[in-house]
Amino acid sequence: MSPTLPGAALPGYDEAAALIAGYAAKRARFRPGVERVALDEAAGRVLAEPLHADRDQPPFARSARDGFACRAAEASLHRPLAVAGATRAGQAPSGPLPRGSAWEIMTGAPVPSGADAVIMLEHVETSGGPSARTVRLLPPRTIEKDGNIVARGAQARKGDKLLSVGTAISAVQAALAAACGFPALKVFLRPRVAILATGDELVPIRSSPAPGQIRNSSSAMLAAMVAAAGGEPWVLPIARDTAKSLDAAIARAGAADLLLITGGVSAGRFDLVEPALARAGARFHFIGVRIQPGKPLVFGDLPKRNAKMGNSIRRASLPIFGLPGNPVSSAVTFLLFAAPVLAALAGRLDRGPRFALARLISDVKARPGLTRFLPAACSFAGSLPQVELISWEGSGDLAAMARANCFIVVPEEGDLRPKSRIEPGAIVRILLS
Ligand code: AMP
Ligand code: MG
Repeated sequence: MSPTLPGAALPGYDEAAALIAGYAAKRARFRPGVERVALDEAAGRVLAEPLHADRDQPPFARSARDGFACRAAEASLHRPLAVAGATRAGQAPSGPLPRGSAWEIMTGAPVPSGADAVIMLEHVETSGGPSARTVRLLPPRTIEKDGNIVARGAQARKGDKLLSVGTAISAVQAALAAACGFPALKVFLRPRVAILATGDELVPIRSSPAPGQIRNSSSAMLAAMVAAAGGEPWVLPIARDTAKSLDAAIARAGAADLLLITGGVSAGRFDLVEPALARAGARFHFIGVRIQPGKPLVFGDLPKRNAKMGNSIRRASLPIFGLPGNPVSSAVTFLLFAAPVLAALAGRLDRGPRFALARLISDVKARPGLTRFLPAACSFAGSLPQVELISWEGSGDLAAMARANCFIVVPEEGDLRPKSRIEPGAIVRILLS
C-alpha cells in the first residue's frame, strides 16, 4: 500500500477503505488494557475475556409450553391418561412419570423423567374430579417424541464458549452473562479520542457568535459518535487557524490514543492542519480520497511520545484523521474511516462501516471520479428497506443531516455507464449511521 501524497492521484473509496481495514487489522494485534465493570455498566463495552457457560443451558430438560408431559406414543393413541402430578416453573425435576399417565407442567418447568413430550394445554380435553383427573390428546392430533421439550444442554454445554474476546456488549450479551452467573465482566479500557475543532470562525456553544462567527457543532457530534463507537471522547479547546495554536493543540493531543481534527484540511489559504501535522512528524497514509463529501480527508500517524494520561493506552504511534470541517463531511468520513480504526483500538472484532441494501424511491445523480455518500431517509418498515434522498444545501447542511438516518452510496459515474444517474426502483447500498 503506497501512501497517496500530494501530486499523486487520489485513491478511490475502495482503495482507501482497504488501506483502513489493513491498518485496523494491524492495530488490533495490540490488546488494550483491561478493567472489570459491573454487568449493569457493561453495555457499550468490549469483552476482554471469553464468556463460557457455567452449566448446561438449559440446565434441565425444560418444557416449552404450558400443558401435560407424557410419553408421545401413549398420548397419540388418544386414550385418557391419569394426571399423576404437577410441576411449576422453579420446582425441582420430579417424576418418574408412571406408565399410562400424564404430568401437568408449566412453561420453563423441568420435564419429569420418563416423559418424552409435552402436549399443549390447548390440545387436550380434561375430565374427572380433582383427585381422578384425566387428559386426552384431542384427535386427530398426534405428538412426536421430543415435542415441546428443550433438551438439557440443547443451547450450550457447560464450558462451551458463548462469546469471544472482542464482542461488543449490548442488551442480549448482558442477559447471557447474567444467565451464566457473571455479575461483572472483564472489558477493554476505552481508547481516549482527542477531538480538536479548528477554525477562526468557531466559538464555543455558550458564547454568542459575533458577525461572521458560528458555533462549534462538530465537536459535540464527534463526541457522541466516538462514545457510540466505544471510545472515550476528549474534547479539546478550539484551535485557531495559526501555526502556533495548531502546534500547541496537536502537542497536547499526543496523550490520546486517536486524534480527530476537524477543519483546515482543504486547499484554502488558512487550511494549516496538514503542514502542522507534518511539522509534528506525521507520516501520511493518504491526503484526499475520491469521495463526496469528504474529499480533503487526511489520514496518518504521529510518532508517539511516552505520554500516559488517564486510561490512555501506550501505542507505537498515534493515528490521526484530519476530517474536512463541514459537518456532513466530518460525519461521513468519521463513519467510513475513523470508526473502523477506533473499533480496532477498542479491541472490537466487528469494525464496520455498516452497509445495507435498500430500494431507491427518489433518483440520485452520480459524479465523475467520486463515490458519493448522500444524506437520506430510510424506512425499515416494509419487507425491503426504502430509501430517499433528503433535500440538502451541501455538506454544511447540518439540519438536513439531522433528518437523515443513513447515506445513499452512489458509485463513481464511470461505474454506472451509460447513465449518470440511478433511477427510482433501483436497489442501492446505504451506509448506516
Ligand atoms: P474547513 O474545512 O475548515 O474549510 O471548514 C469547512 C466549513 O465547515 C466551514 O464553513 C467551517 O465554518 C465549517 N466548520 C468547520 N469546523 C466546524 C465545526 N467544528 N463546527 C461547525 N462547522 C464547522
Ligand atoms: Mg477552517
